[in-house]
Amino acid sequence: MAENTPSDFIRAIVAEDMRTNKYGGRVHTRFPPEPNGYPQLGHAKSICLNYGIAEEHGGKYNLRFDDTNPTRESTEYVDAIKEGIRWLGFDWEDREFYASDYFDQLYEHAEQLIQMGKAYVDDLSAEEIREYRGTLTEPGRNSPFRDRSVEENLDLFRRMRAGEFDEGSRVLRARIDMASPNIVMRDPVLYRILKASHHRTGDKWVIYPLYDFTHCISDSIEGITHSICTLEFENNRALYDWILDTLDLYHPQQIEFAWLKLSYTILGKRYLRRLVSEGHVAGWDDPRLPTLQALRRRGYTPQAIRAFMDGIGVSKSNSVVDLGLLEHYLRQDLNQRAPRVMGVLRPLKVVIDNYPEGQVEWMEAVNNPEDPAAGKRQVPFSRVLYIEQEDFREDPPRKFFRLAPGREVRLRYAYFVTCTDVVKNDQGEVVELHCTYDPATRGGDAPDGRKVKATLHWVSAEHAVDAEVRMYDRLFLKEDPFDAPEGQDFIANLNPDSLEVLTGCKVEPSVADKAAGYSCQFERQGYFCMDPDSTEGHPVFNLTVALRDTWARIQSRRG
Ligand code: ATP
Ligand code: MG
Repeated sequence: MAENTPSDFIRAIVAEDMRTNKYGGRVHTRFPPEPNGYPQLGHAKSICLNYGIAEEHGGKYNLRFDDTNPTRESTEYVDAIKEGIRWLGFDWEDREFYASDYFDQLYEHAEQLIQMGKAYVDDLSAEEIREYRGTLTEPGRNSPFRDRSVEENLDLFRRMRAGEFDEGSRVLRARIDMASPNIVMRDPVLYRILKASHHRTGDKWVIYPLYDFTHCISDSIEGITHSICTLEFENNRALYDWILDTLDLYHPQQIEFAWLKLSYTILGKRYLRRLVSEGHVAGWDDPRLPTLQALRRRGYTPQAIRAFMDGIGVSKSNSVVDLGLLEHYLRQDLNQRAPRVMGVLRPLKVVIDNYPEGQVEWMEAVNNPEDPAAGKRQVPFSRVLYIEQEDFREDPPRKFFRLAPGREVRLRYAYFVTCTDVVKNDQGEVVELHCTYDPATRGGDAPDGRKVKATLHWVSAEHAVDAEVRMYDRLFLKEDPFDAPEGQDFIANLNPDSLEVLTGCKVEPSVADKAAGYSCQFERQGYFCMDPDSTEGHPVFNLTVALRDTWARIQSRRG
């Protein structure tokens, strides 16, 4: 493929505009979030697309908060969005804007439309406006207030601004065409009365502009070239164009793309808000959520997320992406960068009877076989160890090659050991194993060439760090969480086992001095990331992702 063949239809449009010099060789994009929730993977897609395209052309990109709905917005969300974008690795420099910065200009433009006879104050109620709007098959009807004079409209709009009227009693509407086949164009509302304090403008305004009016003018003010948004705004493009053309303003091009949908999860902020507010998860950064704060806490890397976004591309038709694909990109990235450590999730005590009491040997272990520069470390070996409970079977089935009575296995980086005895509690559960080791196999190889069929991870009991490990599974049981039984919603599809907390896990001592955010692979288990809930000497690890896609295997076995 030629080096600069555009990889999607938006990049093709931008490349063509560069070729024809449509915007004087400029590419200037923006990401326009509403600060009413934490940023999620869908936003990441929009960020990677908008900012990625600008970067590819040496252009600029803005961050613009679309803060026109003061009742749902807050600075907590503003900060979370900024933190999320920075974490993804993008820098908007000093180009941080707020639609609320343009309220004065927007107001002027609204008066201008009134002067032109292109906007009017309507006294119909919200419900009446809906009734008059018509349907897809029926044209709408003109409001009885549609033909007010310019003077009357100006007077009423100024009094709306002055706070003389109640919320919901009047709106400003564009005067376009109540019979338009595009319902968006049937005299859309431009301003409404809202007596709410704004997190930036305080009580200065009691009227607020609506999204469609605000968005295109903000794009225009900032000199945006390509205004990239999701498909649901396709019908709104006509209004975007009408407002800028009617006001004779600089005109960016709106381009729509399909939003990201992921299986087994939900992205919409209003649904995420419900999960948080009803306590189904612990907060916006609960590692089971698809918010950037949650993914970071869980151990996702920005590199993996960006590679995933590049991989899935951009299209014009909506589809659902398998969550497993995101996990695939994550494993690929972590495999390169995560140091390996030995951690036992469900410990079973092992005593090596012929190993000298009190002796400790430091075994050399490879930090990352994928990255020679990561070097080696020393792991302590002693007489009492822990192995994984599931690595032992008293009565092994035919294909079980791990430890069993009388059987020899390798302890990674250490010795061959043979199980000689099993200790049980009153309930008949195995609580301790006795083994012997072969001193000639130090480092994990037998000089006589004899083979073992399994290599186990282990941790020295006296050196082990006690850890809590939070094991996560998919948040929803269904691929489409919205596919709920009659009369129920997505809450019904929550996976009751999405979190399992393991305590008393034993991890090698090299993790003792690590801090929250430290990410590693527990050999044979998966990737784990140290949680901010960790305290001195008591790390808490989040399962980032298992080594293999066990879910896919389980699903195919069930199906
Ligand atoms: P939400 O679905 O989380 O409520 P939103 O569209 O209401 O999202 P905004 O803050 O308005 O939230 O979104 C900012 C930008 O991110 C918009 O341009 C929007 O199109 C884009 N965006 C949001 N969700 C997705 C998604 N799932 N896929 C692609 N882009 C998205
Ligand atoms: Mg929205």
